[in-house]
Amino acid sequence: MRIYISADIEGVSGVVHGEHTLRDGKEHDYARKLMTEEVNACIEGALEAGADEIVVNDSHGTMRNILPDQLHSRARLLMGSPKKLAMVEGLTSEYDAVLFVGYHTRAGSNGILNHTFSGRVIKTIRVNSIDMGEFGLNALVAGYYKVPTVFVSGCNLLADEARAVIPEIESAIVKESISRTAALNLSPAESRLLIRQGTKRSLKDVRSKTPFRMEGPFTVEIEFLNTGYADAAEIVPIYERSNPLTVRFTNQDWLHCYRLIRGAIMIANSVQ
Ligand SMILES: [Zn+2]
Repeated sequence: MRIYISADIEGVSGVVHGEHTLRDGKEHDYARKLMTEEVNACIEGALEAGADEIVVNDSHGTMRNILPDQLHSRARLLMGSPKKLAMVEGLTSEYDAVLFVGYHTRAGSNGILNHTFSGRVIKTIRVNSIDMGEFGLNALVAGYYKVPTVFVSGCNLLADEARAVIPEIESAIVKESISRTAALNLSPAESRLLIRQGTKRSLKDVRSKTPFRMEGPFTVEIEFLNTGYADAAEIVPIYERSNPLTVRFTNQDWLHCYRLIRGAIMIANSVQ
């Protein structure tokens, strides 16, 4: 059984603030350790369920957060950026299941540290008029490859967001969101136990699980936090300005859409 893990940091127990998540944050190194250990718990659960090949994609910020020498020796670590498929780089139809660890809710929701790909520039991303966060956008890439997304860990509201997309998904709720920068956290030890157990449950009868797919064509609207970001994206003629804050495009192929979303964000982030 081949397992793909995409690991973010905002949904890790004990992580509640930019000081934990940002590269120069004072508590970032400690948060990286917490993140690494939650990923290890997921790897252990996958091994107990019979996984024989595990790839972990570091999916947060610089994508250099997980501590390589503290990661479980049975997994390989995809680290660094840029990568064409970012949080789901390297995923192919050869995997049997995808698991998301340390994830968070979409921009504009109530969840802890909510954002979608870039808290600096993105207000909302809509796919065929449906608001989607990183969970849904990444699960659609897994679905493109016909691989089921079977497990997610993060806050209680992230679990709700995931179930709205994939009702049967297994989850480990490691904290309850109180505000954007406050949460009631389980202890790291308890969080890791839930992640290990949830991962193991999620991989039972994995071949019977249905990948999350939506039929194209996909019309994607990217609403930015200010008009300057839309001004920059609009320079590339594939992005059509639909209102002062928003660019849109339509494409039949979800991988193209995903890369066009990433591209628009990189362009917007170049605006000083
Ligand atoms: Zn992140």
